[in-house]
Amino acid sequence: MKKNAQIALFLLCLGIFSPQTFADNNTITFPHACEKGTQIVIAAMGDLLFHHHLQVKASKDGYESLWQEAVPYIKGADIAYANLEGPIAVGMNNMGHQVKDPMRWDFGVYTDYPSFNYHPRLAKDLKTSGFTVVSTANNHTLDRSSIGVDKTIEILDQTGVHHVGSKKRDAEQSWVKIIDTKGIKVAWLACTEHTNGHADKAKQILHCYQSSDRQLIMKTIQELKSKVDAIIVSPHWGVEYQEKPNRTQQEFAKEVLNAGATAVIGSHPHVLQPVQKYMTQDGRATLISYSLGNFVSFQGSTRTRSTIILMIGLTKTANGTIINGVRYVPMYMVNRNGVENIHLMRLNAEHRNWAAFQHITKSIPEGNALFSLPIITNPECR
Ligand SMILES: [Zn+2]
Repeated sequence: MKKNAQIALFLLCLGIFSPQTFADNNTITFPHACEKGTQIVIAAMGDLLFHHHLQVKASKDGYESLWQEAVPYIKGADIAYANLEGPIAVGMNNMGHQVKDPMRWDFGVYTDYPSFNYHPRLAKDLKTSGFTVVSTANNHTLDRSSIGVDKTIEILDQTGVHHVGSKKRDAEQSWVKIIDTKGIKVAWLACTEHTNGHADKAKQILHCYQSSDRQLIMKTIQELKSKVDAIIVSPHWGVEYQEKPNRTQQEFAKEVLNAGATAVIGSHPHVLQPVQKYMTQDGRATLISYSLGNFVSFQGSTRTRSTIILMIGLTKTANGTIINGVRYVPMYMVNRNGVENIHLMRLNAEHRNWAAFQHITKSIPEGNALFSLPIITNPECR
């Protein structure tokens, strides 16, 4: 054992070494992490999936009550992203008809699985919680048909939450959303593997694997490379409840990263899949997070309730924008102790023996965990 490792182990045994500064051998780090330049942090979260009990809780206490413990971390990032798994279609019932808006959670207009629709208060609560951008490309995008896609975009636009992955019918709207923060331009693209069998008649959604869309995604990334500082691609893909990515996911991730993207942030399997560094053919250190699992949901197993807020640090250096590090805030969905108690709980160092934390570290090393503010993605540079 090397001397430094012996000292670290000794300090850890004494409980002196803070776990968040203890980098194990598996900790994901990035070359040039300590180069000088403007830095920003992107916070990425998984599926916003509001089953019945979550909507009941939100109807009383607001959606923010579900993720209150995450808010300082969401607001602490410069850009916060999540997958919005379902429409926010005001007054659209589950038969696809426009009806008088009940203005409350009625489970006729606003519904849960298998056909989701969320109350417009969600858009407001996303904004006030600090969410900057959501993906609207997923298997539930068409749960209120084409009109539902339009209505979701309208409410997000009114509220000031950016969205990627879907378009209004007949709108000349780009598939790309560029967010400029502290002079760092980050371009976002989102796509989905499927739409639960609903035909995308008005071509409103970007489809990851349809050959014409796939070509468009690669061409768009190549064109964006010289115009922006970083490119994030968010595919909604893979097989539900699988903890490992399939070959199609792996191939797509590598293709977009080799085309010029900086990071791939995936979702859909409802469980975490690995977070990995990937070296591109042109020598860039990029990131793949195959699935961030559920951010909030009523699913009840340990693995569907274990999630993270993934923090990706970017530095704009003299030689281009690089990833300076990744960290994650471990979280656990408390949803089996009565509706009143449904909330996302932040895990800290004391919870390291919990099954949820153990489960999380199967996908991302413990050394990358972040147990407290401030958000520092490259602590080795301090
Ligand atoms: Zn999904």
